[in-house]
Amino acid sequence: MIITVQKPLEEIIESLKQYKKIFVVGCAACATKCQTGGEEAVKKMADDLKKNKKEVTGYKVLDTPCDVRIVKKDLSRLPEVKAADALLIMACGGGVQAVERVIDMPLYPSLNPVFLGTIERIGIYNEFCKICGDCILAETGGICPISRCPKGMLNGPCGGAVEGKCEVDRDNDCVWVLIFEKNKKKNVKEGILKKYMAPKTYSKPVKLNNKEKK
Ligand code: SF4
Ligand code: SF4
Repeated sequence: MIITVQKPLEEIIESLKQYKKIFVVGCAACATKCQTGGEEAVKKMADDLKKNKKEVTGYKVLDTPCDVRIVKKDLSRLPEVKAADALLIMACGGGVQAVERVIDMPLYPSLNPVFLGTIERIGIYNEFCKICGDCILAETGGICPISRCPKGMLNGPCGGAVEGKCEVDRDNDCVWVLIFEKNKKKNVKEGILKKYMAPKTYSKPVKLNNKEKK
């Protein structure tokens, strides 16, 4: 899930200063789970805009605003959108840019996307994957050293761990201790302990067309 945080309200109001009529777009997927762009957050934003002398022509929480097809189907033809001077998008950058592909109007993001997150519980998220493009979790007991070790160590601990704790933050376990323990618990005989992990290139596609592959 894409984790987002709301920009300061003053920044949002400042970015909309030349516009009077605003239509607000929310996201029923990630931003709803983050409580930054669902029904409740969108209604609160509409109220805040009104308090700041804006006219809200309407709002819509799209199932997945990052899907161009959904934007075309559920947003592009709404009269309330056409009546607005600008759109405020409460979604990640993928959502903002999907709307931009379809609707030629001034549009502004209200959120800052911060990371791809694993949900612990609502409000508590961890960045456990940096989307490096070449997953090594099979070797590391399902625990990622790239995202969870502050130094991104690929070949064992850095030497600063003390009693299983990370030298960068003693409140956190050293991820390499977690990996060794996990592999031991699962009785994994092979794996990263016996392999040298070459430096990663971090090269990956920025565009995919699965149809072309068929
Ligand atoms: S190795 Fe880590 S950062 Fe790379 S894809 Fe796997 S979980 Fe994500
Ligand atoms: S102590 Fe462990 S988790 Fe912390 S920086 Fe070193 S290798 Fe990474």
